[in-house]
Amino acid sequence: MCGIVGYVGSRSALDLLVPGLERLEYRGYDSAGVALAEPEGIRIVRKAGRIADLERVLQGEPMPAATVGMGHTRWATHGAPTTSNAHPHRDCTGRVAVVHNGIIENWAELKAELVGNGHVFASDTDTEVVAHLVEELADLPLEEAVRQVMRRAEGALALVVIRADEPDVVVGARRGSPLVVGLGEGENFLASDIPAFLAYTRRMAVLEDDRVVRLDADTATITDLDGNPVAVQERHVEWDLEAAEKGGYPTFMLKEIYEQPQAIADTLRGRFDQAGRVRLRELELSDDVLRAVDKVFVVACGTSYHAAMMAKYAIERWTRLPTEIDIASEFRYRDPVLDDRTLVIGISQSGETADTLAAIRYAKAQGSVVVGVSNVVDSSLAREADAVLYTRAGPEIGVAATKTFTTQLVALQLFGLHLARARGSLDDGAIELLTSGIRALPDQVRRVLELDGEIAEMASRWAGTRDFFFLGRSGDFPVAMEGALKLKEIAYVRAEGYPAGEMKHGPIALIEPGVVVVGVATDSHVRQKTFANMEEMRARGGEIFMVVEEGDEAARKVADHAIAVPAAPDLVCTVTAVVPLQLLAYHIATERGFDVDKPRNLAKTVTVE
Ligand code: GLU
Repeated sequence: MCGIVGYVGSRSALDLLVPGLERLEYRGYDSAGVALAEPEGIRIVRKAGRIADLERVLQGEPMPAATVGMGHTRWATHGAPTTSNAHPHRDCTGRVAVVHNGIIENWAELKAELVGNGHVFASDTDTEVVAHLVEELADLPLEEAVRQVMRRAEGALALVVIRADEPDVVVGARRGSPLVVGLGEGENFLASDIPAFLAYTRRMAVLEDDRVVRLDADTATITDLDGNPVAVQERHVEWDLEAAEKGGYPTFMLKEIYEQPQAIADTLRGRFDQAGRVRLRELELSDDVLRAVDKVFVVACGTSYHAAMMAKYAIERWTRLPTEIDIASEFRYRDPVLDDRTLVIGISQSGETADTLAAIRYAKAQGSVVVGVSNVVDSSLAREADAVLYTRAGPEIGVAATKTFTTQLVALQLFGLHLARARGSLDDGAIELLTSGIRALPDQVRRVLELDGEIAEMASRWAGTRDFFFLGRSGDFPVAMEGALKLKEIAYVRAEGYPAGEMKHGPIALIEPGVVVVGVATDSHVRQKTFANMEEMRARGGEIFMVVEEGDEAARKVADHAIAVPAAPDLVCTVTAVVPLQLLAYHIATERGFDVDKPRNLAKTVTVE
């Protein structure tokens, strides 16, 4: 998420920080700010909106010619994207400033303690606790104060901290969120990504987890959290600027596919209690409200609709609540039966999808309880819903959704378990099994990504194929639908997603040699039936590609080609099963020579009905 830049040297810090932030704008863009260190105090300028908005404010402000400073471009996770929540955040004295990327899981406990000690908070962010914690440690060198903060803060943190009492020093620290050191001549940099300093130096070092770095103009010293020195492993960056922005991947879409383990881990972060049970603290819907519900509707468009399909299966299986799904643009025109005991879940990555907003407004007017699932903090969907559950995928630049889809699946699974617990519809053993399955997903997705080479080979075989079917049943059906949609969106190939058991009622007439049939069979309820359906396709000349679970030998007999994903509980497996299909679409599209980041005729956020 977010972009961080820190500088210490002899040039005007501001002249380096703002261009550095611009290079990181793809990482977050709901607000931005800079802080400059001087012995008299720290000067902070912040602004909601894009970096251009910050620049307009800076042009009208007399700024000190400081040579030490830092900047931040935010992707909000805690607190609306307002100017007062923009980073940098300061302590009570105004002599400490901090920028942060990530999520501090125990921020509420730390804040309560700090407020008890008399600290006054000026923002709704989790980040601000760091400034006040450093303030409490004013007697220690900044570097040691940051080490102590790192020992107390749980979750993902990349921090950069400056303090007026040590105006020639910048301290950075990292756990979970990225932070790299740029090593210059008489100047040094810190940034969440290389493009921020690539114009000034190609020498860099990656800061590892639980390390603190102290930068002066001439030195960079790294220690562990106990203060023991750690050697600086210097590397040389070969990438040009464009490659660096894409993290060395050829496209944003591929980078985002590979970011899924991290995005899922971020979406899970802070959503379990000490005992490992799902705890959606931010949801703001009491268990009484959830118990009173007698029907659920899930409404969404495009890829989010496929997440809605999975949610239907999860909510019905886990809570026994009747659940309907609707394409948002159809929902209100069919006069659905809603009342104040209906729960309506609206899903939209941007939170601005016009059809989904219209649907939830309609539901609210009928008195229904509305929950939004969105990737953008304080989006229209988040503001208008009674409660919101955020996916924490970070900005997605590729138009075709990938990491925002898998994080929607995960968020909806967490919500399903939350609902099941509130309603007492699943026993502890079943909840425990599903929860540990969900928590294993980041690692499992990482393993699926290792199959990329194998998938790319299949893709090259099918670069010229004009007709695809994607089939699945039950929980595998939404995965098949999403696989087909990805192929249509970026490779411009006709691909039909269909329930595997329904093919014999018509579409099987289209199966002939030359047609590729992709089957997904991970849901234990129906796996055997899907295999039987795939045999029917093979008998008509279709070439069969299957996504199955590891160890599933039966699949090998049906399939011409099979990809095995790690075994997971039913429905949880949707997350791993879709990844090979994202990669398949990706490689077919690039084989066909298309710009996958900007597919023709499509917009990332659809704000028209
Ligand atoms: N959690 C912090 C916030 O919401 C940092 C978000 C980010 O990484 O930009 O302000």
